[in-house]
Amino acid sequence: MITIVVPVFNEEESLGAFYHELTHVLPTLKEKYEIIFVDDGSTDLSLKLLQSLAQKDKAVRVYSFRRNTGKSEALTFGFLQAKGDYIVTLDADLQDKPTEIHKLLDRAKAGVDVVCGWRANRLDASKMKIISRMFNLLMDKMFGLHIHDYNCGLKVYTRDAAKSLRLYGSLHRFIPLLTAVQGFTVDEVAVVHEPRKFGKSKFGFSKVWKDLPDLFTIFFLIKYAKRPMHFFGIIGGLLLLMGAGIFVYLSIIWMMGESIGGRPLFFVSILLILGGLQTFFTGFLADLMINISQTNQTSDQAKNRFPLKFSTP
Ligand code: UDP
Ligand code: MG
Repeated sequence: MITIVVPVFNEEESLGAFYHELTHVLPTLKEKYEIIFVDDGSTDLSLKLLQSLAQKDKAVRVYSFRRNTGKSEALTFGFLQAKGDYIVTLDADLQDKPTEIHKLLDRAKAGVDVVCGWRANRLDASKMKIISRMFNLLMDKMFGLHIHDYNCGLKVYTRDAAKSLRLYGSLHRFIPLLTAVQGFTVDEVAVVHEPRKFGKSKFGFSKVWKDLPDLFTIFFLIKYAKRPMHFFGIIGGLLLLMGAGIFVYLSIIWMMGESIGGRPLFFVSILLILGGLQTFFTGFLADLMINISQTNQTSDQAKNRFPLKFSTP
């Protein structure tokens, strides 16, 4: 079975045509399918339209959030509800073409866990395209995963890959990386992209500033989430060492009879020592927290933690 997951936020003008295009293509895949619409707190007629689709079509399931929560959360919720062996995501705004699904699905069936659409000829505002290109390049350089287009809405996942994701905030932009570091295979396939015909993009220029802190979170999660002491310990240790070094130097000249109480360097050394200690112990506390969370796991929770590819039933 194949599950289609569609996040929807105020897409009343597109939904009818989107459903029509999608249901035109899905029977050609010659497999059982279900369509999960996750309405992300729309304030227009989207929910009403989706409800009427669900009434007509047994393959359609609709979930609606009480308020706008975010694309990441809508996707994650859809993944949790999905029953399919393969899970397809698409945006509801008609920018991703359902006719492209089979290309990605073939790739997934050939053994790739996450197949990303690559909008080789992307038709969005040029400002957004430049930002997106810079983002993709930065990710490539920082993490070495060679994907042209991290954020295309059209993706196909194996069930395990989709269900491993717990996205929030703007983490949906990092899906290829988040799955790759868990050991899932990731690849891309060039897809057709259409300009937005109705409504407007929900993500404006401001996403750049909002995403920069996320980039740090991602970097930290990937490199240090399981060993924060390596990050905080090294920074804290360095600060402490510098502070102590200055302090020793000041002590020596103090013993030689010079007064040091009013010297700016004295305060710098105290600050470095305090800052260093604090940073070091922040890392220590983070390590303790990880230790507690790992030792109190049930066997089911542990299964989620280890990247199991196969186990006998
Ligand atoms: N979306 C959502 N919640 C949000 C913002 C967007 O579910 O808070 C959905 C939206 O309805 C669309 C998809 O996510 O189906 C992508 O949004 P959009 O087209 O605005 O993004 P862009 O293509 O401009 O990156
Ligand atoms: Mg769009």
